[in-house]
Amino acid sequence: MLIINQIFPLLSQPRKVVITTHQKPDGDAMGSSLGLYNFLIQFGHTVTVISPTNWASFLNWMPGIKNVLDYERQTEEADKAIAAAEWIFCLDFNTLSRTKRMEEKLCNATGQRILIDHHQEPQVDKFTYGESDTTKSSTCEMVYDFIIGSGEDDKINEPVAECLYAGVMTDTGSFRFPLTSAKVHRMVSHLKEKGLNHGPVHEALYDNFLENRFRFLGNVLLNRMELFYEYNTALIAIPQADLIKYNIKTGDTEGLVNYPLSIQGIKLAAIIIDRGEERKSSFRSKGGFDVNTFARKYFNGGGHFNAAGGQNKESLDEVTAMFIKAMKENKDQLSNYQF
Ligand code: 5GP
Ligand code: MN
Repeated sequence: MLIINQIFPLLSQPRKVVITTHQKPDGDAMGSSLGLYNFLIQFGHTVTVISPTNWASFLNWMPGIKNVLDYERQTEEADKAIAAAEWIFCLDFNTLSRTKRMEEKLCNATGQRILIDHHQEPQVDKFTYGESDTTKSSTCEMVYDFIIGSGEDDKINEPVAECLYAGVMTDTGSFRFPLTSAKVHRMVSHLKEKGLNHGPVHEALYDNFLENRFRFLGNVLLNRMELFYEYNTALIAIPQADLIKYNIKTGDTEGLVNYPLSIQGIKLAAIIIDRGEERKSSFRSKGGFDVNTFARKYFNGGGHFNAAGGQNKESLDEVTAMFIKAMKENKDQLSNYQF
């Protein structure tokens, strides 16, 4: 993988570009993709953003989102764009398998793949150019660095600023996680100077839910949450029937895992959701418990030190039992937690 700075001199020649990200994109995945999109279109590039799957409706305010293709619903159009692309930017994921059904098409594409990502252990051999940095708070911070590095920061307009702010804000837990460096705050300060109106971004992301999501949340916290105080651990396991009963859509479950993590003494929080085709898990930790390693070892997953996820084909009961077994295996680390 060559360093990404090498493409800076090429930016001024209009090209066919695809930008893609991980399945079920979150604020950082969609924010970085559309931040880069709104930047690149100013050079006259033909840019197509493709999401491997659908996304949460609370992202629908993002400038440019109406042009994003959902690979599962617009496969033919997306395949054409991938086949024609000279550059394929891959944002906010480390392995091509995170693009689900797009993986094969991306692997066989003739265009150059370019990685911008902050997850551990990227598949560097799959990319011509790229930047992988696990010390970065978010992929949005890395897209910002890319723009600054290119010397084209006059192209940071309101759409670019809003998208990048959304991703850095969500991936840092509203500027609270350890990777929120002084540089991140300087970036936000710069985005503000470029016209960012941050209030509406927060409102669009956090104050925009439907009633059913809160009824669902009440049910989950009352009936689906189990605490293992001896292990400083909390687990939420959600059967598919709950998702159906409360009409839960993509994105409605985002952030749920943070509720048990805010209980006093809890060091590890896990949520396992039966999505029908698979059991999707999310893990969050406080302090020194490495959920990236935990997710890789037990749940076919990965992520970051304090936030990771995985997926399994086994039933919800089986994955729950696997979690309890894994928790017990890590008793020493989980029980001896010092605040
Ligand atoms: P979330 O729990 O919000 O889905 O994901 C937390 C973090 O773990 C994100 O950075 C996400 O990219 C990563 N992650 C989630 N699920 C998986 C997975 O199945 N495999 C890998 N490698 N990373 C994941
Ligand atoms: Mn991210």
